[in-house]
Amino acid sequence: MNISNFINGSHSSPSSSPSFSSINPQTNEFIASIPLSSSQEIDLAVQAAHAAFPRWSATSRAQRSAYLTAIADAIHARHEEFAVWESRDQGKTLARARVEVDRAIANFRYFATFILHETSTARFTPDERVLTYEHRSARGVFALISPWNMPLYLLTWKIAPCLAFGCTGVAKPSELTSITAYLLSEIFVQVRLPPGVMNIVYGDGSTGADLVRHGFIQGISFTGGTQTGIRIRQDTAADIQKHLSLELGGKNATIVFDDADLDAAVDVAAKAAFENQGEICLCGSRIYIHQSIYHQFVSKFVEHVSRTYIPGDTLGAVISLAHYNKIRSYLTLAKQEDFLLGGVPPENPTNGYWISPCILKNNDNQSPLCQEEIFGPVVTVSPFDTEEEAVSLANDSKYGLAAILLTKDGARMRRVGERLQAGLVWVNCWLVRELGTPFGGMKASGVGREGGSILKMCFVWFVFCIALCSMRCIVCEANIYLLNRDI
Ligand code: NAD
Repeated sequence: MNISNFINGSHSSPSSSPSFSSINPQTNEFIASIPLSSSQEIDLAVQAAHAAFPRWSATSRAQRSAYLTAIADAIHARHEEFAVWESRDQGKTLARARVEVDRAIANFRYFATFILHETSTARFTPDERVLTYEHRSARGVFALISPWNMPLYLLTWKIAPCLAFGCTGVAKPSELTSITAYLLSEIFVQVRLPPGVMNIVYGDGSTGADLVRHGFIQGISFTGGTQTGIRIRQDTAADIQKHLSLELGGKNATIVFDDADLDAAVDVAAKAAFENQGEICLCGSRIYIHQSIYHQFVSKFVEHVSRTYIPGDTLGAVISLAHYNKIRSYLTLAKQEDFLLGGVPPENPTNGYWISPCILKNNDNQSPLCQEEIFGPVVTVSPFDTEEEAVSLANDSKYGLAAILLTKDGARMRRVGERLQAGLVWVNCWLVRELGTPFGGMKASGVGREGGSILKMCFVWFVFCIALCSMRCIVCEANIYLLNRDI
């Protein structure tokens, strides 16, 4: 496949810019040639989005909703094609890719209807002489930058609300996974999205840096690693008007209490650790288990994971050789006797980047295995004694993206959950999303919240209540709870 930039409504002819190869992580075979866009091409894309903004922001909500619905329908019609390419490009299983295409479609459908039913707030001054109301206007051109782990799903999570709220954009997928973004640009042509409204450019970190620094960019919605988030903040520090939403890395804790339904807890903890071969920012990669059930849980967990997560069948390949080597280097830090399942994978893999699930005993919370984001099929298990200790172990991390609580005790759900430094707390479930619920991390996991009405903060100017809303963002960070009533 030859991928080309999508700028101002058309695909560029193969550019004079250099290109690079994208490979299938499952086989190590070449699958696509990707352009490494120059700063001139980035400029063209941003200029196109800037020129398209006045007309697009003046369209009615009904018109924008119709475009979003048409995009969702068109992806749906090519669902399997998207899923097959996503699996080949990222290494994930086809089953996982299908779920993510469903979710990408849901992103468009959600915002297509959300904007039709939006309300505003109005308040009287104390003497009731003046009625104030909140009006929000679209901000302008956004840079939308996504990582490689859930390529289509995360890119559309940015594109859909950007279009829905009347903004225009330049999207840049990860250099490792560009193919479904290219298929999406074909859909934009098919539904006759007006030229320039959404542009897609390809390239690496330097392409992303050119994009975020461009003077016409009004805001950046970024998902990726914490170090890149820091770099983007540095690169835009002087551009005070640029709104930043940074969704960054995680090292999330799963806490299993002694009253949890053991079989259900094993299943949730395993999914949270190994879904998408552990390459999800929200994965629970360190499991803390009450000492009274530790041995029973661990033996069931090891048995369940070894039966359920089979490389090449239910577990995909990791994204690249560099990432394989990174995961491998963490595994070499573990002692042989700490492997309850798996082991150090071979050096120099020849036929795809496969790593079997690894479960490691760990009693040292300061170990890099417990502190650093490995982003692969690796999980640590550690015992705890008291609730206090569980909270302190979970919070002993520079990250604060998500946490998973497994308990039947309703009071404990709140008592423990509200003390966890995590933007999202799942109780007896994992990866459940409700798109109106704000999403985002604390600490080194990022700033800003995306999702539903909170996400509007990213894409619109606040005209009347800027002080109040900014204060809310500054003084508190929401812990969001998703409680599963079925366990
Ligand atoms: P990355 O930070 O290396 O790259 C992400 C994107 O940023 C890519 O498109 C890349 O080309 C671009 N980029 C790189 N340098 C840039 C720069 N200086 N300026 C602008 N753009 C730049 O991340 P990755 O390796 O692709 O993804 C893995 C990371 O993403 C993990 O840390 C994971 O936890 C995180 N992630 C977070 C979430 C979340 O919602 N919090 C979701 C998925 C992944």
